[in-house]
Amino acid sequence: GGVTKTAQELETISESSSVGSRILVFVRLRPMAKKEKEAGSRCCVRIVNRKDIYLTEFASENDYLRLKRLRGRHFTFDASFPDSTGQQEVYSTTTSELVEGVLQGRNGSVFCYGATGAGKTYTMLGTMENPGVMVLAIKDLFAKIRQRSCDGNHVVHLSYLEVYNEMVRDLLSPGRPLVLREDKQGIVASGLTQYRAYSTDEVMALLQQGNQNRTTEPTRVNETSSRSHAILQVVAEYRVRDTAMNVVSRVGKLSLIDLAGSERALATDQRTLRSIEGANINRSLLALSSCINALVEGKKHIPYRNSKLTQLLKDSLGGSCNTVMIANISPSNLSFGETQNTLHWADRAKEIRTKGCDPNEELVQVPTTNTDQAKLLLELQKEN
Ligand code: ADP
Ligand code: MG
Repeated sequence: GGVTKTAQELETISESSSVGSRILVFVRLRPMAKKEKEAGSRCCVRIVNRKDIYLTEFASENDYLRLKRLRGRHFTFDASFPDSTGQQEVYSTTTSELVEGVLQGRNGSVFCYGATGAGKTYTMLGTMENPGVMVLAIKDLFAKIRQRSCDGNHVVHLSYLEVYNEMVRDLLSPGRPLVLREDKQGIVASGLTQYRAYSTDEVMALLQQGNQNRTTEPTRVNETSSRSHAILQVVAEYRVRDTAMNVVSRVGKLSLIDLAGSERALATDQRTLRSIEGANINRSLLALSSCINALVEGKKHIPYRNSKLTQLLKDSLGGSCNTVMIANISPSNLSFGETQNTLHWADRAKEIRTKGCDPNEELVQVPTTNTDQAKLLLELQKEN
């Protein structure tokens, strides 16, 4: 007994911590759209206990009960949101903990995955009346900062970018594609706007404007941005002077990702897959799937380099990051195939283990040179 642990106990502890944390996976069902109703859709999704999803092509209760064993597909997620779930509940359940983590200096990321029209942009961006995860996260971040003591200084920067056709663009300052380069912090898009945010009020308009800048697919004009990935990065830096009057800082980054429509990346037969690759369609989404497969299988080599999206998200998938996946689905039986594919993909994502966060990570001392130090101090004085 006593306080000292046996070697075996220690081994068990280190083993379990090396397993890392699992990606949390949520599913959100959106309400039936008017168009779907007019097309005579039936509902093919049933959520039970806010966790279990039954997928059945059959609409009536009797059909469901009779055929659930034969034709039903059952999935379980960390939470499954019925179509009545509001934006605030989706935010609180999926993302608010990550926002808390960001203030502690931990990175986090939230992905929305699903077919075009399944509700990804509604979940991430939302509308003026019903703002989504991106806006609610920033609002919450500012609220949490206000609650904290004023012994230090919090600085929040936003970047909003798009990956379209293997080009990275700045959604806050549209122009030429950005070049990715690797530096000490990882892979960064050079020249990307870092918007210094002071309050929530300006953010919704800013993000909606940014969303307007997303690439509209030229061949299908009414399917705006179905092939573009939008990434909002919220970087919160906390600066404080230590007892020796050095400036120390802690940085946490939250990445919120509205992925391109998954429908064309879901081809399972080789011929379709080849045509997808040939046309360079959704290369980033395919690469994301490959990375997820490699992570699930515990491979040493994860092919992050295969696309711009996976390069940008390298530190958000396999690294020490808290990761959340929200799979968006339509209730209509007309989307049965896509919904089933999305749920299978989400089911697979549950198996990913990330390194998890180092709870002992503390404030790090920033710049080492005197001039940098002086500059930072000046900045701090200005801000205070
Ligand atoms: P995606 O970004 O996946 O292509 P959208 O988010 O644009 O899909 O959603 C398609 C349509 O459905 C939009 O008109 C959107 O406002 C609506 N919608 C999606 N999810 C919901 C929801 N949970 N509640 C109400 N309307 C929704
Ligand atoms: Mg969208």
